[in-house]
Amino acid sequence: MPHRASRAQRRRTPPLRTDCERLEPRRCLAAAAGGTGRIAWNGEHVNARCGAWVVRTERPLAAADLAGGLGWRTTSLGEGCALLVAPGVSADVMAAWAGRTPAVVSIEPDVALAPLAIPNDASFDTLWGLTTSGPSRVGDSDINAPEAWDITTGSRNVVVAVIDSGIDYTHPDLAANVWTNPREVAGDGIDNDANGFIDDVRGWDFANADADPMDDDGHGTHVSGTIGAVGNNAIGVTGVNWQISIMGLKFLDAKGNGYTSNAVAAVTYATRMRRDFGVNVVAINASWGSEKRSVALRDAIASAGRAGILFVTAAGNESSNNDRVASYPANDASDAVIAVTATNRSNRLAAFSNYGSTTVDLAAPGVAILSTVPGGGYAASSGTSMATPYVTGTVALMAAANPRATAAEIRAAILSTARPVAALAGKVATGGLLDAAAAVRAITQPAPTPTTERAVTTLRRDAGDTLRRAQPVTATTGSVTLASRIGDGPRGRRDVDLFRVNLAAGQRLTIDVATQSLASTSTLECSLRLFDSKGGDLTATNDAFGAPAGMLSFTAPKGGVYYVGVSGSGNTGYKPSRAGSGRNGSTGTYQIEFTFDP
Ligand code: CA
Ligand code: CA
Repeated sequence: MPHRASRAQRRRTPPLRTDCERLEPRRCLAAAAGGTGRIAWNGEHVNARCGAWVVRTERPLAAADLAGGLGWRTTSLGEGCALLVAPGVSADVMAAWAGRTPAVVSIEPDVALAPLAIPNDASFDTLWGLTTSGPSRVGDSDINAPEAWDITTGSRNVVVAVIDSGIDYTHPDLAANVWTNPREVAGDGIDNDANGFIDDVRGWDFANADADPMDDDGHGTHVSGTIGAVGNNAIGVTGVNWQISIMGLKFLDAKGNGYTSNAVAAVTYATRMRRDFGVNVVAINASWGSEKRSVALRDAIASAGRAGILFVTAAGNESSNNDRVASYPANDASDAVIAVTATNRSNRLAAFSNYGSTTVDLAAPGVAILSTVPGGGYAASSGTSMATPYVTGTVALMAAANPRATAAEIRAAILSTARPVAALAGKVATGGLLDAAAAVRAITQPAPTPTTERAVTTLRRDAGDTLRRAQPVTATTGSVTLASRIGDGPRGRRDVDLFRVNLAAGQRLTIDVATQSLASTSTLECSLRLFDSKGGDLTATNDAFGAPAGMLSFTAPKGGVYYVGVSGSGNTGYKPSRAGSGRNGSTGTYQIEFTFDP
């Protein structure tokens, strides 16, 4: 099931180009580009790098696009994203530029991201999160790691990308489990594998733009130890995986500060290494976040998902409900995302933990977690940052146990095997705690026989954009989910899918759209419209949804035929009876769920 966003979140307007006119002047405190300052953006203030913008474009920006922008520089972040540095230029000037530059799909400030760990002087320095059978026995609050290890202790063929502050790859409890790029020669100054990065033998440091992802902060090394500190080597700790390959992608600097642009570039690095270079990256660990949504980051995560990578991320440490106050990237609705919160030894939600019955997926241990720190040492830390790598590590264990398992199968198995915990009921979508043993068992067993769960039907052809050719939805009770695509028909970006439903008088219909993947050149934000039997407008959601999902509810005033129109955002004014009418909108695939109340 797609990760569902709250309704409030759906309605939040993303920072797309069309909104730029409403921007207020920038109030960046730092004078020069590079420092972090406060910027007024879409009516809110955000912490972002001064003079730096993340743009999504339909093609690489040319000199003509930047004409008049004296001193503007662009750096590709990959996958249609670029960092645009324009020192001293105000937000309204940037917005006006974006608005008149056709190649620009979206623009947003380079928002600052922060790690989600809480320094903690732990009184328990044992690995209670892995098992309760040791001296830290206080109840069944662990992830059942030893039971999982009966099946597998991990594999060096499985790669996990830790996008964080780097990794101390010399740590005696990590060194053997650090990924090395097999096609890169260290220190020869040549990009041997031609991936655009010179001498990237262990990963990359996006914070300092060099090949050395050494951790000068500590957060990334701690996260890495939980995923895969070397097991059974008689020293220190053991990770969820005894052996694994950890790719260090550093974007948080020595003070733990990072920017969206570098996070996007790091996600894209992992995606390309899997998709284009055959590196078996099965998961990204993202123990950081922001209250600000990034379209570019969301799309980079979606690309990673399409490449077969799960994006495991921390729910946040504000003790707040993510259903109401969003935390990103945890709230980015995507089948690739697993959002993780933290529990303590008493199997309760940690005091700092964010939660959310629709936006947070499950919990894992995250209080007083002992792991590796730079310099060869160990320390305990707390935070949803510390819970997240238990889930990432379990993804890697599952991939080791069943190398043919897909990301979707792994995600589904982790969520369906989460162990119900009373304190998590109504707090996370699964109501449960990570169970590594059950998850590994589930992924190594044949798929269960299909249940009565609603099936997803793929539309065989473009449903067309005339009422006459609408795709019939035969169900009149319960739910039905269909999958389709905007942009595959002869009308291209003016493609509209129409669905025909039959409703009884007084019957309520709820429509929920979740996008599954995105076209390479644009984001898909669906627009939904509901028509009467003659094509007259009844209701619509014409806004671009805050998440790549949309919802519309309708109660039929009388029984009969109604039509539902799905189009890409930007194409809201089409005539449902006239093919090719309307305007060019975004394209991509989606799932649409019709729920018929009695
Ligand atoms: Ca290279
Ligand atoms: Ca090299």
